[in-house]
Amino acid sequence: MALTDCEKCWETPCVCGYEYKNNSRYSSPENMADYVIGILGYRSKEELQVILQILNEKVLEKINNQDEEFGIMKRK
Ligand SMILES: [Zn+2]
Repeated sequence: MALTDCEKCWETPCVCGYEYKNNSRYSSPENMADYVIGILGYRSKEELQVILQILNEKVLEKINNQDEEFGIMKRK
């Protein structure tokens, strides 16, 4: 195990997202978005549309379940 392994998923680079949470390089929402856009930029238009659809569905599901990973406080 390398020192740079993620403490949550133990992968290098991190595949669960935890390591990106407190990384100053991705501290602003715009920097994080630029990073994701860079990754998606190597996909075809068709793949990109499918990925965005999946992302939309999964993020909405997480938000609706008030998942802690999205930093959403549980409401009464
Ligand atoms: Zn991780």
